Amino acid sequence: MNDFEKQVAGKKEEGLYSLRIDILQVNLGFRCNQQCGHCHLEASPERSEIMEWPTMELVLESAESFNCQLVDLTGGAPELNPHFRHFVKALRLKGLAVQVRTNLTVLLEPEMEDMPEFLRDHQVQLVASLPCYLEENVSAQRGEGVYHKSVEAIKRLNVMGYGFESGLSLKLVYNPGGSFLPPSQSALEEDYRRELGQRFGITFTSLLTITNMPLGRFRRKLVQQNQEKWYLDLLRKSFNPKTVEAVMCRHQISVGWDGRLYDCDFNLALGLPVNHGAPDHIKSFSKEALMKRRIVTGDHCFGCTAGFGSSCAGALV
Ligand code: SF4
Ligand code: SF4
Repeated sequence: MNDFEKQVAGKKEEGLYSLRIDILQVNLGFRCNQQCGHCHLEASPERSEIMEWPTMELVLESAESFNCQLVDLTGGAPELNPHFRHFVKALRLKGLAVQVRTNLTVLLEPEMEDMPEFLRDHQVQLVASLPCYLEENVSAQRGEGVYHKSVEAIKRLNVMGYGFESGLSLKLVYNPGGSFLPPSQSALEEDYRRELGQRFGITFTSLLTITNMPLGRFRRKLVQQNQEKWYLDLLRKSFNPKTVEAVMCRHQISVGWDGRLYDCDFNLALGLPVNHGAPDHIKSFSKEALMKRRIVTGDHCFGCTAGFGSSCAGALV
């Protein structure tokens, strides 16, 4: 058992086990129009990895084969996958709920003008990155110009009904601008609501706070600043046992762009597929074999259990 497993292990169990599979998170590729400093996947416009249609067909089959409550599409920028619209339509035709993780600025790229309408017409739920309500903090993490483009994209989504109409959920995502833990999600949501409302008249459904994982570009930055050990120690000493029940790998599974299965997007970033005897590719997906799997863990997992906890759905407690 590694240190994380020792922390979370029950008296009889060895390690961390999943409880069920509610959500299929699907990574459509590493291509992105941005190149953010905290990106654990090191996505960028230069990345060429994308999910091809035959793999998407396997995802469709798998999602239909069990009571999948949500298909959560991520990337990179998932909208840049050439099969994106076809895939969303196919998922919705099967009656599956679909969520897209958008970086917002991609909606202003050429040939994306009608994307907000497309998303609305297919009742796609949105989770959108906006790491702060202040321009300087967003620019530092995501680049100059990203803040105002993001605000413009939210305005367009609000016009479509996103952020206030039933079925058109628009959740914003905060992540810290450095090597510290997120504050209280509910308190920060009030700040976002007030500041974005007063400055731009924009609205959203709720705010999700996500801890920076010591992986990818964020890890490299920590190493450059000689802060990696300090940050890992912070995550470790902030371990909150109340978060363990809800860590996301216990109720979801991630599909990589090439069809490999991972316990979560962070294990995907590390190239650590599902293991301990469970099937590790979408072509051999079996809910029965995967729902009670032993999860592949490591030091990075302390990022999910620190403080209020963290997941793709925000804080855990
Ligand atoms: S954090 Fe998101 S928007 Fe930024 S480079 Fe990574 S995938 Fe793209
Ligand atoms: S990093 Fe992944 S595997 Fe580890 S606890 Fe978090 S969700 Fe689970």
